Amino acid sequence: MDFKTPRYIPMSRRRRIYEGKAKILYEGPEPGTLIQHFKDDATAFNAKKHEVIEGKGVLNNRISEYIFQHLNDIGVPTHFIRRLNMREQLIREVEIIPLEVVVRNVAAGSLATRLGIDEGTQLPRSIIEFYYKNDKLSDPMVSEEHITAFGWASPQEIDDIMALAIRVNDFLSGLFLGVGIRLVDFKMETGRLWENDIMRIVVADEISPDSCRLCDIKTNDKMDKDRFRRDMGGLVEAYTEVAKRLGIVAEGERPQGSGPVLVKG
Ligand code: UDP
Repeated sequence: MDFKTPRYIPMSRRRRIYEGKAKILYEGPEPGTLIQHFKDDATAFNAKKHEVIEGKGVLNNRISEYIFQHLNDIGVPTHFIRRLNMREQLIREVEIIPLEVVVRNVAAGSLATRLGIDEGTQLPRSIIEFYYKNDKLSDPMVSEEHITAFGWASPQEIDDIMALAIRVNDFLSGLFLGVGIRLVDFKMETGRLWENDIMRIVVADEISPDSCRLCDIKTNDKMDKDRFRRDMGGLVEAYTEVAKRLGIVAEGERPQGSGPVLVKG
């Protein structure tokens, strides 16, 4: 299939497949493709907290593109094909496995709360957790027993997902360490991709400061969505700094024409 010259579909005539909290999926230019559109909406605590933060979608599109392209380049399969414009990327249509896969290197967030471990404690090894993707139930944590009993993924698929999660964690930890950033934890999603009757599990959705915990190695400053969760402000500035350190946006360049503006939702 030629993905380089997609048929142009005017925005108004595109079929919207799905709208989530931070992204919209549209029908793609070729069968088996979709367009993933990054919105500026930020939500937390199961969407109880919501704001529109101008510039966030543009930054996440660029940062996620950078990560997924590099994963593709090192042989970690993903749904990503290429970025189309400031807010959109062309992706392969996959059957999303209804699990959020969280990988943790340092105690934070719900793990610190649930197990009473001080935030910032280095974990004895990387820990993988699964959460069932269900907004009504606030994404409860589940075990492999639940996943196989309810048929969300097979034992072989769980093995594949865990192998992918470890590779993504190793790649991301090294990538961020190289630019003075610690990867505390992150969430990834996976999907089933069929190619000529052969199915493989690929990394899907996005990987961005919305779905990772990142902190500056020297100052410990938070560079992720915790700035929004904890009303700390400076979210666009922090995401821009992540993009600059990765070499995605040049010094002094803004991700958009206008400056960052906070709009209360
Ligand atoms: N995470 C996410 N989406 C979710 C829940 C968690 O992207 O719906 C990410 C979160 O940004 C963090 C990691 O997964 O990097 C672990 O989150 P945790 O379980 O500590 O939950 P939280 O404290 O975000 O409620």
